[in-house]
Amino acid sequence: MKPFSLCGLFFCVIFYLTIHNNKAAAQNCNINTAVQLVYQDSIESYIQHLEDYETRFMIAPNRLKIALWLGSKFNSLGIDSVRIDTFETHTVHSNLGIDTTTKQYNVVATIPGITKRKIIICGHYDSFAYGDPFSYAPGADDDASGIAACLESARVFSEINLTPKNTVEIIAFAAEELMNYGLGGYDIHAAKAEVNNDTIDLVIHNDMIGFNDGNWTIFFSNYPGCESETNLLAFVCDTYTSLNKQFWPPNMGPFADRAFYSRDYKSVYIEENFDLNPNYHKVTDLLSNMDVSFCAEATKLSVAGAMQYDLFGVTTLSGESPVFNETTFSVYPNPVQEKARIEFNLETACYVDLSIYDVTGQKVETIEKGKREKGNYSIEFINDNLNGFYFINLRIDNKINYTKKIFTHRP
Ligand SMILES: [Zn+2]
Repeated sequence: MKPFSLCGLFFCVIFYLTIHNNKAAAQNCNINTAVQLVYQDSIESYIQHLEDYETRFMIAPNRLKIALWLGSKFNSLGIDSVRIDTFETHTVHSNLGIDTTTKQYNVVATIPGITKRKIIICGHYDSFAYGDPFSYAPGADDDASGIAACLESARVFSEINLTPKNTVEIIAFAAEELMNYGLGGYDIHAAKAEVNNDTIDLVIHNDMIGFNDGNWTIFFSNYPGCESETNLLAFVCDTYTSLNKQFWPPNMGPFADRAFYSRDYKSVYIEENFDLNPNYHKVTDLLSNMDVSFCAEATKLSVAGAMQYDLFGVTTLSGESPVFNETTFSVYPNPVQEKARIEFNLETACYVDLSIYDVTGQKVETIEKGKREKGNYSIEFINDNLNGFYFINLRIDNKINYTKKIFTHRP
């Protein structure tokens, strides 16, 4: 061996040890135990079973049968509390000449926590493929892969006998693929949660997590107001998986997830390098065209993400002392008519960006921006032209976000 390559080898070993030690130092042993229990074999068997239905098209007649199987599967994996939420949705699909109302079935598996605050892990079980989706739409990656992550999370949590502080809901949603034409499973669930005043602290959303672009790339959404939760998923990605992470631009996100984050439920969407997947919505979306080991790595994000949040919340990641006391951030009155007062307290000097976003994540107005000293702030906001739901977002030092939902109504 030549000295040069020896040196290179030495460097690699040191580099590996450094990375490895950094990872190990950040790891929590309970979470580490759980992610080690994520098995490729089980993930493969769930996806195979779902593919074997041949179609899971949301208006094909087998949807109740699939929902019942999912319910009994959650039971057999050790989750005692499973329910089927039935709802009706109207679908219009001009390409397919379909205009119909159907009954749909969300499958909700619950691990009760000490509190009723919720962490949701979810995916959608319906599928679509061009051709004749009534008879064939295998949907192995879209989104049996996400459902496999849900089932495997349930299995692992049962195996470690997880007793969370937060209530963990693992949900196989119905009716995603045609939802641009009506209310899908996500909308129904999120709307119901809002009516019930449920507190949902984190939604981990798995949609298409089985295609490996060759670089093990996983994408995270980065919704305005959800940066802390996105950082949490990025942290568990670095700490517990071998995936390489990327982020979508802040304003990008599928309609499905908007059901949650537009209601101020913090949400992170996890997806493969979708642009490169040649099988999307095709009859070739098959297990044989997926990388199950990639799907297993991506599944660890749900297991570790939910546990990390449950154990530590989102605030302890950086190890820095908090610069902001969340309880001091207020907007009143709300609903807002001509004007409102926004108050917050900075515990150290920091860079502040106080802005308003609409429900699609577009910034509509900047109220305050720049370096501000430690102290109490009370800012008058004059509403010139906003009507409807908006978010007031306070971004601190370009990394931490606090969001208040407001309803504006000019008389
Ligand atoms: Zn999908």
